[in-house]
Amino acid sequence: YTESVQQYVDQVFETVKKRNPNESEFHQAVKEVFDSLKPVLAKNPEYMKQGILERIVEPERVISFRVPWVDDQGNVKVNRGFRVQYSSAIGPYKGGLRFHPSVNASIIKFLGFEQIFKNSLTGQPIGGGKGGADFDPKGKSDGEIMRFCQSFMTELSKYIGPNTDVPAGDIGVGAREIGYLFGQYKKIRGGYEAGVLTGKGIGYGGSLARKEATGYGTVYFVEEMLQDQNFSFRGSTVVVSGSGNVSIYAMEKAMQLGAKVVACSDSNGYIYDKNGINLDTVKRLKEMEKKRISDYVAYHPEAIYTENCFGIWTVPCDIALPCATQNEIDSASASLLVSNGVKAIGEGANMPSTLEAVEIFQENNVLFAPAKAANAGGVSVSALEMAQNSARLSWSFEEVDSKLQDIMKNIYLNSKKAAQDYGTPGNLVVGANIAGFVKVADSMIEQGVI
Ligand code: GLU
Repeated sequence: YTESVQQYVDQVFETVKKRNPNESEFHQAVKEVFDSLKPVLAKNPEYMKQGILERIVEPERVISFRVPWVDDQGNVKVNRGFRVQYSSAIGPYKGGLRFHPSVNASIIKFLGFEQIFKNSLTGQPIGGGKGGADFDPKGKSDGEIMRFCQSFMTELSKYIGPNTDVPAGDIGVGAREIGYLFGQYKKIRGGYEAGVLTGKGIGYGGSLARKEATGYGTVYFVEEMLQDQNFSFRGSTVVVSGSGNVSIYAMEKAMQLGAKVVACSDSNGYIYDKNGINLDTVKRLKEMEKKRISDYVAYHPEAIYTENCFGIWTVPCDIALPCATQNEIDSASASLLVSNGVKAIGEGANMPSTLEAVEIFQENNVLFAPAKAANAGGVSVSALEMAQNSARLSWSFEEVDSKLQDIMKNIYLNSKKAAQDYGTPGNLVVGANIAGFVKVADSMIEQGVI
C-alpha cells in the first residue's frame, strides 16, 4: 500500500493506544479492522481526508456508572456498569449487555467496536453499542439477580430507548435478566416501549427464533462457506466450545445438518462423548438446572470430562466452532487444531481467536468464518424483533428462521465479494471488515462532520 495509507493507519492506531492505555482487547479488535481496511483507504483517499478512522474508533459516548445492590445477607455490594454508545451512523445503537467479572472498559469497547461492523453487515438499520457490568452471576440467587438488574436499569434507563439505544443479552444476560431489566425500564418510563430491549420473552414482545438465532446463524454461515468448497456439515465431526445460548443452538443446527458433535465445554472444563453429545442433557443441565458441564458424565458414563476448558482444542475435528468467549483459541491451540486436520473454523463467540491464531489458520488454508460475519445472526434477529415491535405483530418461527437464513447467506456473499474486489479472494476476515465498514463510512460522510 502507498506510504500515506500506512502512515495514516499507524498514526490513528497510535492515538488509539495513547487514549486507551492498557486496553489490549480493544487494541486487538482495532488492529484487525485497520489491517483489513488498507486497500479501501488506498482506493478511496476521501476516507482519510474525512477522518473516518479517527472518528470511528472514538465512541460517540461512553457511560460508566455505579450499580449498588443488596445481597441476600443484607450486605450492600457495588459493581461498575457500562454502556458504550459507539456509532449511530446507520441506526440506533444496538448491542448486548455482558455480566461477567472480566468486564472492563477494554472489553466493552472491543465488543462495541466490532458491533458497528457486524450490525452493518446484517443489512438491518442498526448502529453499534455494547454494555455490561463486572458482576458475577455465578452462584447468585434469583433475588440477587433481580435486584442487580433493577439497579443497573435504574441508571441505564436514562440513556436508552427504542429509537436511541436498544440493548440485548450477551454472556451472563439471558431471557431471565432481560425480563427483570424490561420490568424496571417499564416501571421507570410509565409506558410500554417494547422495542427498548431485544431478547425478550415470547409472551411480552420477544421474537420467535431469537434464542436460537446466534447459534443457528453461525452454522448457516459456515454451511454456505463449506458448500462453496464442496464440503458440508453432513458427516463431519464437530467440536463446539461453550455450553451457553450460542453453543447449544450451534450444536443443535449442526446436528440437524447431519454432523456429529463430540465435545463442548464451560469455563471449568470440557466433555468428550465419542457417541455424540446428547443435547437434551446439555440443555437440561445448563438451561434449566444451571449446573456445570461436568455433571454430564453422571448421565452418560461413556463420556469423558477433563478439567481445563482450553483442552477442548486437543479434540480432533473437521469443524471447530468456538462459542465461549474472546481469545479462547491462542496460537498453540490453533496449531494443534491444524495438525489434527481441522478444515474449517466458525466463530460463534466474539473475537474467540487471537490475531496469531487467525494467521495460523489462514496460512494453513483452513476455511475461516470470522465472528463479525458468522455470529451476526443474533443481532439480526434482534433487529427483526425491533421491526415486529414497531409493527405490533409477531411472525412465526419459520418466517423469522427463513429471514435469518437469507441474511446469513447475504453476509457470506457480501463478505466474499468484498474480499475479491479488494484483492484478497477467500479472506473473509478482510471481506467482512470491508463490507461492514464501507456502508458506515459512506453514511458518516453523507451526514457531515458530526
Ligand atoms: N450480544 C450479541 C452480539 O454479540 C447480540 C446483540 C444484540 O442482539 O443486540 O452480537
